[in-house]
Amino acid sequence: MIKIDQECCDLCGTCVSVCPVDCMELKEAMLVIDNSRCNSCQICVRMCPFKALELVD
Ligand code: SF4
Ligand code: SF4
Repeated sequence: MIKIDQECCDLCGTCVSVCPVDCMELKEAMLVIDNSRCNSCQICVRMCPFKALELVD
């Protein structure tokens, strides 16, 4: 699953726009991930300019 470091997240929306399964969303000034749909591709991890995302078990 993808873990968000909310302190590092700048809410830039990059991860939301690159996720191929559309399971990330900016909601009420917070990034929310539906990990049940995540395919662990890590595109979001690589693209986040603030290194706020991490793939964890
Ligand atoms: S790309 Fe990174 S900084 Fe931008 S919204 Fe996603 S987690 Fe937050
Ligand atoms: S790892 Fe891939 S599928 Fe999962 S949230 Fe990130 S971009 Fe989306």
